[in-house]
Amino acid sequence: MTSQTSKITYLRRLVAIMTSVVGLAVVVLTFLQVEWDRRESLRQHVADMENLSAALTRQAESTIRDAHAVLLGMQRKLQVSGYGPESLNEVLEVARAQSAILTDVQGFTVLDANGRPLVTTVRNPITSYSALDREYFLVHRNNQVSGLYIGPPVKSRMSGEWVISLSMRLSDASGEFHGVVMATLLVQHFVDFYQTIDLGSQGVIGMAKRDGTLLVRSKDSDQHAGLNMSSSPLLRKVNEEGVTRGSLVLTAMIDGVRRIYGFDTSDEYPILVAASLGEEEAMAAWRSRSLQNWSLAACVLVILFSMGWLIWRALGRQGRMEARLQSMHRDLALANHALEIMAGEDALTGLANRRRLDEALRAAFQSAAAQGQPLSFVLLDVDHFKRFNDQYGHPAGDEALKQVAAVLKRHAKRNADTTARYGGEELALILPGAESTAAMAVAERIRADVEALAIANQGSPYANLTLSIGVASCTPGQAIQTPADLVAAADVALYAAKSAGRNRVNLAAQPV
Ligand code: GH3
Ligand code: MG
Ligand code: MG
Repeated sequence: MTSQTSKITYLRRLVAIMTSVVGLAVVVLTFLQVEWDRRESLRQHVADMENLSAALTRQAESTIRDAHAVLLGMQRKLQVSGYGPESLNEVLEVARAQSAILTDVQGFTVLDANGRPLVTTVRNPITSYSALDREYFLVHRNNQVSGLYIGPPVKSRMSGEWVISLSMRLSDASGEFHGVVMATLLVQHFVDFYQTIDLGSQGVIGMAKRDGTLLVRSKDSDQHAGLNMSSSPLLRKVNEEGVTRGSLVLTAMIDGVRRIYGFDTSDEYPILVAASLGEEEAMAAWRSRSLQNWSLAACVLVILFSMGWLIWRALGRQGRMEARLQSMHRDLALANHALEIMAGEDALTGLANRRRLDEALRAAFQSAAAQGQPLSFVLLDVDHFKRFNDQYGHPAGDEALKQVAAVLKRHAKRNADTTARYGGEELALILPGAESTAAMAVAERIRADVEALAIANQGSPYANLTLSIGVASCTPGQAIQTPADLVAAADVALYAAKSAGRNRVNLAAQPV
């Protein structure tokens, strides 16, 4: 593989990696953004529900406290002034006046020791009933509580409405049970108030006693009145973990809807209020934002991968074109080489090529043999040419070879003289009719002229480009029988010149 095609392969790999990395980064960043948004959104809803539940707990506390204060007054008055009609009437009058102001209270009622109503501020009451079996009544009669008792929601026997009873025990000086004084809070009153708060279609507000008895629910309150919710995670958190205020996300026991709850308990009374939003509804805005974010990310990914793919494909195409070009180049080089051989000329130096050198030497050898004439063969080799290439580059090497070839050509003065490229950085000169002395003289002039070119070659001890030359002369058919023998003799001489230190001419030993 050439450097160009490996560069393209590298670029393609880079494009694939970069595209994947950027794509992954887009996915990860989008995920982080969506997740952060979800948490922030949830945090906001949780804070809202916590604040709302705290405010509603204060509201419930305040309502109960108002009624509690009136009940306390009624209880004291009766215990001090007795249970005679006059005292009862006085209590009724005061309670009536206070009841008119305390709009959250349905009414105040005094029950005797048998659970029968003695007086009440409730309008149009049914009084022919007994509360003997009511939980709050039994609790007081059995002296189970000392202060205010908050009863479970019940359907009032006096008015037929759902009420929450707040009651206190009446006793005489000796502590004997004398009945109950109680206030009734209309459940519907709370429901109406809770429904003015917009919590969406799934949001619910609930008030419960700490023991888990559901007092009010903003939805379907009547259906679930008095339901025991003590096993719900919210009440368990309050009662078992002692958490007085907080939040949690859970699936409601009552309707199976998953909600975000905020709750707060009262310090004064054993009640708590929880406000909630349906999780699905509350997170709908976040969901649509996250859909937008993911859609945007998907668009970016599509564009990114399309671009990556286009670049990748274009690089692939360029790579294939490059490969084709290179193969054409190779074919062309081969064709050139073939042409060169056919032309008998070396393309770089313009000298005869090896094939023509062999032919020319064979012809010169035969002719010299036939005429009994001398013949010289000169073999020239550039010194330390590898180092030259390594230091100045191959193109500079080619240029230097051309210059050396030009010097060689200049010294081939006679028509019969043949200059050739023997191979690589080795050149040759055939001098028909020249004896060793003449051939040595020509060779020495060539060596000197090349040295005089002063082509720098730092890798050489001479610091310049120089030649080592081997010369062999003979009269063919005598000691030397074939052209190959003559070339071999010149080669040996050249080798000796190299060994002797280069940049010199050496004559082959004259065969005996
Ligand atoms: P020495 O003095 O012993 O001859 O050392 P050298 O480096 O010249 O000899 P070697 O045979 O180790 O290396 C010959 C170098 O010539 C290696 C080759 O790359 C270079 N060469 C051969 N033909 C060409 C060519 O056509 N152009 C170029 N630029 N360099 C060539
Ligand atoms: Mg060589
Ligand atoms: Mg060499």
